[in-house]
Amino acid sequence: MTVRTRFAPSPTGYLHIGGVRTALFNWLFARKHGGQFILRIDDTDQERNVEAALEPILEGFRWLGIDWDEGPCVDGPHAPYFQSQRSEQHQAAAKQLLVAGFAYRDYATPEEVQAERESAEKEKRDYVYSRRWMAETDEQAAAFEAEGRKFVVRLKMPRDGKCEFHDLIRGDVAFDWAREQDHVIQRADGSCLYHLASVVDDSDFEITHVIRAAEHLSNTPRQIFIAQSLGCNLPEFAHLPYVAEPSGTAKISKRKLDKYLKNRDFKSLCDHGNAIAAKIGHETTADTFNPVIVDFYREVGYLPDAIINYLLLLGWSLDDKTEEFTRDEMITHFSLERVNKSPASFDPQKLSAFQLRHMQHLPIKQKVALVVPFLQKTGLVASPPPCDTAPHLIKIVEAAGDRIKTAGDILEFDEFFVNDDALPFEEKAFKKRVCKDGAAELLREFRDILASAEPFDRETCEAALRSFIESKEIKIGEIIHALRVAVTGKGVGVGMFEALEILGKDSCLVRIDRCLARADD
Ligand code: GLU
Repeated sequence: MTVRTRFAPSPTGYLHIGGVRTALFNWLFARKHGGQFILRIDDTDQERNVEAALEPILEGFRWLGIDWDEGPCVDGPHAPYFQSQRSEQHQAAAKQLLVAGFAYRDYATPEEVQAERESAEKEKRDYVYSRRWMAETDEQAAAFEAEGRKFVVRLKMPRDGKCEFHDLIRGDVAFDWAREQDHVIQRADGSCLYHLASVVDDSDFEITHVIRAAEHLSNTPRQIFIAQSLGCNLPEFAHLPYVAEPSGTAKISKRKLDKYLKNRDFKSLCDHGNAIAAKIGHETTADTFNPVIVDFYREVGYLPDAIINYLLLLGWSLDDKTEEFTRDEMITHFSLERVNKSPASFDPQKLSAFQLRHMQHLPIKQKVALVVPFLQKTGLVASPPPCDTAPHLIKIVEAAGDRIKTAGDILEFDEFFVNDDALPFEEKAFKKRVCKDGAAELLREFRDILASAEPFDRETCEAALRSFIESKEIKIGEIIHALRVAVTGKGVGVGMFEALEILGKDSCLVRIDRCLARADD
């Protein structure tokens, strides 16, 4: 048997972080067993602009490196992989269920069904449909139709006993059939509903393992009923605990950001992302750009491997110590048995820690390649970059070190890219460091020493500064902060001597002169 798993998103216009976790587990399971991972789109006929709403989802998966063997864009032997384009198959299945007596034509009006429901509520008993308007024969149907009624197709669900099945994560599960409704599977206009469509598609696509979010566990009995009634092979089921909100237990949702923003780490994740988005001119609203949506991470330059590694551990573990996995290691070790049964909450701090670690492992050239698009988007580097940019970039990225947590953080180091005469000075830092008594004089004197420093590298600059403070009998803090503001415009940044070397003598001198002129004003 070839393992075939699937992820079946609706085209919502965005890729939810919890959805990625579900897709990842499906993908890993398929890859581990040498099987196939299928992307099925659960769209409906009513949806417009499916393509536009699907694109961010596909783009998100491509960016994350979760590839699909069959589905949109790649097609495959069971194409089309869009639910809306398979209505013929769904209708044929509804007909088969009707003919076999597993479903019936129901002529009740919505009001009649509602009235039954309400009286059950009033009498505090579980509601089950009375089947009063059920037509099992053509005669009964004709009689209802003579009253001007229209029918929907309902499942004729068992009302005794239990639906028992084995869930690969939850173990043995049992639901009373009596609690199940006679679900509608086909509307009066002939269109079929989700549960039927989903079972038919899973069966036609030869899905062997349905690995999905826990919220679908309660749908499983009716889907098993449909599958068995149609004579389909039952897939194995595995219901994953959902990704819970930060420091909470409810499912994480992009609609509850206000609540999550009270969590300091979540807020700082958001603020960091928003600051980068603002710099690259990426238009955002809280609804389209936030840590619940994968686009957020791509836009601010996270590493797909870090996100994947983090999500893997959000619900699965190999042991109680191994945290870092390459893709190959994930595939080797993944198993559904080791998926947690309870929800794991989204932990922004842990995600940031994974991001930092993966950044630290990245060879410098790859890091540079990641930051370049951000510099280009903001016009700090031309597109394509001039040939001699690479060594300069390597020095900056090396000097910035762990300060570049996501690729977009490179934009905090714009002082290395702007023209000397356009360097802005941070007002506060300028006042505090340069306008301080005596600071400008010291800077002026040190400027002339720097002018004769040869070669202009960090060691020489450092030695020059050290002998300067010795001769003046001052502390390093009395000059170095003013020097930093003068050459970078900022109060904090990369190592001072690295900064001097990266900028080079000419730039440093021009910048110091500009700073001094401004201090004189
Ligand atoms: N389209 C469904 C969802 O997004 C898929 C359910 C399933 O995996 O069976 O929740």
